[in-house]
Amino acid sequence: MEDIQQPARGRFAPSPTGLLHLGHAQTMLMNWLQVRAMGGQLVLRVEDVDGGRCRADADAAIARDLRWLGFDWDEGPDVGGPHAPYRQSERFDRYRAALETLGDRLFACSCTRKELSALATGEGEQRYPGICRGGATRPERPSSLRVRVDPGLISWCDQVVGPQSEDPSTVCGDFILRTKGGDFAYQLACVVDDIAMGITHVLRGEDLLSSTGRQLLLYGWLGAAPPRFAHVPLRREVDGRRLEKRRGSRAIAAMRDAGEEPRVLLGAVAADLGLLPPGEAASPHDLLPAFRRVWPGLLGRGDPARDPATEA
Ligand code: GLU
Repeated sequence: MEDIQQPARGRFAPSPTGLLHLGHAQTMLMNWLQVRAMGGQLVLRVEDVDGGRCRADADAAIARDLRWLGFDWDEGPDVGGPHAPYRQSERFDRYRAALETLGDRLFACSCTRKELSALATGEGEQRYPGICRGGATRPERPSSLRVRVDPGLISWCDQVVGPQSEDPSTVCGDFILRTKGGDFAYQLACVVDDIAMGITHVLRGEDLLSSTGRQLLLYGWLGAAPPRFAHVPLRREVDGRRLEKRRGSRAIAAMRDAGEEPRVLLGAVAADLGLLPPGEAASPHDLLPAFRRVWPGLLGRGDPARDPATEA
């Protein structure tokens, strides 16, 4: 059943560690199409929670690149909105309040990265083995704040990848919500803001699929209903590598300066998403009918645990 009371609300939430590239354009395009196809609202949120790595002029550059590509949004740092501020660096009081809500689920951890990697077994994400759960073992050191993760399976249905389940206690264990340096962690800031901003649809790159289990735990602990999640395959360089500024992926701003056509660039991104034959130019609006046809699973608005394939 469609929920006619609540408009769908999506968000594009770049971390401004460098200029936007076509991977960002792809995520923005899918967010824009998903929300507009449902007659909903789109939020632009700048995830500059990690102050040290972020560029000072970032949000002006982000807005300029996105507008040049033909996108609009309903709320954001440049246009304001009922949930302002839309920069995470201006929302620390909300993150502090959420930590208070989590209360005695949190514990101080004095383990160093070096100590933990010495204990690591095998490749992949390291599971925190619970060393400081009973109290920081070296209280004289600066400590991070971790949240206790009890064993338990979390299941949800991703709108792109399908049914998922994981036990975060075996994947990551107790995870960090505030670093030793005092920065709030992405997991916390992202969930707190998605709740506060009434986000109903989270669509992002598949590199963040592995964050979803622990984010669902945070929704539960903070007493909020989770959104629908959709994780889209990452756009790759022709040689298959991830697009990354630090590895020399071209910035959208450089393409604009070189006189490239925004509709041609967007057409190339759309072609890789199956929305257009290769070589055609398009604006975001032009792509709405194809989006409804090619990505019907992204139009579901119901229960996040249900498979969109079974939704009417
Ligand atoms: N800020 C994150 C990034 O740029 C995205 C977070 C999200 O969409 O949940 O990778």
